[in-house]
Amino acid sequence: MTVLDQNLKGVLRTTSRHLKKLAELNIFTVRDFLMYFPRRYEDQSESLIIELAPGDKKVIKGHISNFSTKRARGMNILSALVIDSTGAIEVVWFNQPYLKDMLSSGDEVILAGRVRFDYGKLSMQNPSVEIVGKEKGHSANIVPIYSERDMEGRGRLSSKWLREKLHPIMYMTQYFDDPLPEDLRQRNSLMDFGAAIKESHFPTSRETLEKAKGRLAFDELFMLQVSALQKKWAWRRGIDENGFGKRIPIEDPIHVESHEKFIKSLPFTLTRAQEKSVGEIYEDLDGNYPMLRLLQGDVGSGKTVVAATAALQAVKAGFQVAIMAPTSILSGQHYSSFKNLLEPFGIKIELILGSLPSKEKKERTARLKKDKDDPNRIDVVIGTHALIQDTIDFKNLGLAIVDEQHRFGVKQREKLKTFGNPHLLNMSATPIPRTLALTIYGDQDLSVIDELPPGRQEIMTRIVPEFKRGDAYKWINEQISEGRQAFVICPLVEQSEKLENVKAATEEFIRLQNKVFPNLKLGLIHGRLRSEEKDEIMDRFSKNEIQILVSTSVVEVGIDVPNATIMMIEGADRFGLSQLHQFRGRVGRGQHQSYCFLFPNQLTEDNKSRLIAMVKHASGFKLSEIDLELRGPGEVYGVRQSGIPDLRMATFSDSRIIKQARTEAENIINTDPLLKDHPRLHRAIARNQIEAHLA
Ligand code: ADP
Ligand code: MG
Repeated sequence: MTVLDQNLKGVLRTTSRHLKKLAELNIFTVRDFLMYFPRRYEDQSESLIIELAPGDKKVIKGHISNFSTKRARGMNILSALVIDSTGAIEVVWFNQPYLKDMLSSGDEVILAGRVRFDYGKLSMQNPSVEIVGKEKGHSANIVPIYSERDMEGRGRLSSKWLREKLHPIMYMTQYFDDPLPEDLRQRNSLMDFGAAIKESHFPTSRETLEKAKGRLAFDELFMLQVSALQKKWAWRRGIDENGFGKRIPIEDPIHVESHEKFIKSLPFTLTRAQEKSVGEIYEDLDGNYPMLRLLQGDVGSGKTVVAATAALQAVKAGFQVAIMAPTSILSGQHYSSFKNLLEPFGIKIELILGSLPSKEKKERTARLKKDKDDPNRIDVVIGTHALIQDTIDFKNLGLAIVDEQHRFGVKQREKLKTFGNPHLLNMSATPIPRTLALTIYGDQDLSVIDELPPGRQEIMTRIVPEFKRGDAYKWINEQISEGRQAFVICPLVEQSEKLENVKAATEEFIRLQNKVFPNLKLGLIHGRLRSEEKDEIMDRFSKNEIQILVSTSVVEVGIDVPNATIMMIEGADRFGLSQLHQFRGRVGRGQHQSYCFLFPNQLTEDNKSRLIAMVKHASGFKLSEIDLELRGPGEVYGVRQSGIPDLRMATFSDSRIIKQARTEAENIINTDPLLKDHPRLHRAIARNQIEAHLA
């Protein structure tokens, strides 16, 4: 145990209540505390007293004079005059008697607070105060601001308190071992580790702070990539040792022929991006290691056919295919798509859902174990999480496809590998910039479908202010009288399908049906319905028996209804760009002009720019870049579910550091995959992984 691993209890002078709050932030040891980095920095440049105007929130620096204390109306009042070279301001503190012992006339202080104008004079009431020189506060006027709460909103330790408690243990930063090798550090001109930590808490200048942040950001991105590459290496080594026989020889005549037949059977030609992805997947299928690939493509870019070409090849080579989707609606949709595409080739496709009666589930499960020539065998099975239950096993699974992979946890996806290491194709409609994908999915290869099939119409997107709501309803009425259909998405109340969401959607449904569209047929769908009920509603919607479908945001309205042309989103300001884009992708799938109406609850500068981006941009890639800039990856991709790490210092938009870190990570893993010659790095990574696991 080193100095850094000491429990804070024996180190900090503080109360057990405070220690408990630190613990809620996952801070137990000196190391934890020192590595609790500020979230952001406030540049508190000082103003001159002569510049102050009433109402300003400002920082001033001056000397105290006329310091006095009195009691009046039951209050303890301290007052002083603070003077700088340009003027003086009156300062009053109410009920803070402890300041009396802290301050005295002549002290130089930094005050931060709002400027008032009372009785013809400028003043400040209850400003925060730090004594220059004496105080263990900040310097360079750059004030670190810490995240004061944990994700559940617990905590509540002020930044000021944190800085005060960090100050006396700063000297311990000298005990940090630098996890990076010296030569690597020099190549990338990175600051020493301990120095960077110190600088991050107590910046000495803007330049050195930038260097420190750069160093710490590099570490985070570097370790993520080292872990990812290590994982890939270990996985491949495991396969080398166990032998591996799932190669699908794409060049063989039988495969070439079935491929050509399949392509001819499609009512369209593949886009260039689709062809390229198919090529990359084929190369993997034909390779020595099982595929581990992420196929990214915007909503409607045509991932399904690409997946189907791979499925066809796998079945032709004698293997089975599993396709896993996050919801039963989506699974049902895939079931009908794959049936259309592959049944003509004599391939047997079945659905396995959690809601299936157990007799049928058993029967279908048994059919997964049949030999490839058995007429009862299932070749391609489609389903939800039901596919990774312990009761499921395959005769010979050759390819597993996961749609909307970010909706599954890492462990759930890993589970598919346990069926004898099949080829694994993950699909995602959340476009992520390539550099970011390399970092967070560093163990996977990447294919991107970055163009939409030709002839796709642009969806007209509008932000609708409240006073135009009536007009929008009138418009919807007209569209529906022409035979079209509409979605209404209800605002996000909670991230998961809590009762509140269901309630919000139900209320909206009743209001719309009774008050707004009494002559139309409305339907309601949400995650609390049984999946047969959901399926039935979606079915009626796709037959135009329901004209307006009201839905919570959590339910995947992922069915292809080309006749639906209006997407109306309530509380649009509550959603992230990627999610709004996903919703919008539900319309514009047929030949009719489609519309997306965004109804904000409350327009702030921040969410206005997000909604305007929706109006301006049709490309999911563009939108996801903007989303990342605005909100950061944690919020965009959902830190917890997706396994995307919550970065402390780095940002995923810093592609320069990401690339440097990638190069260095590859260097290290190529020569020393087990990090035997890099023990300090090894330890640091192990520690990160434990932390990620605990978080
Ligand atoms: P996603 O990538 O969102 O899963 P889909 O695979 O569902 O997209 O495809 C969306 C629609 O586009 C489907 O109706 C599909 O038949 C059609 N499609 C796919 N590829 C092409 C293409 N190359 N040309 C025209 N239409 C296509
Ligand atoms: Mg899809």
